[in-house]
Amino acid sequence: MKLSLYDILYILLLTQLKYIFQSNISMGVNLTVKRMIVKIDEKKCTGCGKCIAPCAEGAIKIINGKAKVVSEELCDGMGFCIGICPEGALSVEERYTVEFNREKAESQPKQKDTSIHCFICGASEDTSYLLPLRHNMQSMWVCTRCLPKLIHG
Ligand code: SF4
Ligand SMILES: [Zn+2]
Repeated sequence: MKLSLYDILYILLLTQLKYIFQSNISMGVNLTVKRMIVKIDEKKCTGCGKCIAPCAEGAIKIINGKAKVVSEELCDGMGFCIGICPEGALSVEERYTVEFNREKAESQPKQKDTSIHCFICGASEDTSYLLPLRHNMQSMWVCTRCLPKLIHG
């Protein structure tokens, strides 16, 4: 399988621009800022929990069978979780909220999901860094070792 230009741009947008964007946000001084933040469509959400692991900041939890942003200061708004939702329930919107708290987000315990594996080599989170990927209307994971193969064919 070879990735389309759209897939490659999607991955680059999430992995590269994430850090640039976070840096810009952290330079702000206001407690209330207008910025991108994850929005969850509860009607579409089935509570499957697949979005928990991609959120490295620990901002999403399942409450009463639905995904919720439990603390907006933990959501960096980069939408790393979006591609993995099989129901299309996740999006990002720009609105006023609290400033992203990078220090607190980085101190959150990493949510491990033992059910996710690289769809090419089968590597798990224990041994590899996995990235969420949306391809041909499917949500999947790819490890950083296999990603170049997808990009270059
Ligand atoms: S991945 Fe999508 S459907 Fe599953 S819990 Fe998260 S928002 Fe809900
Ligand atoms: Zn792999």
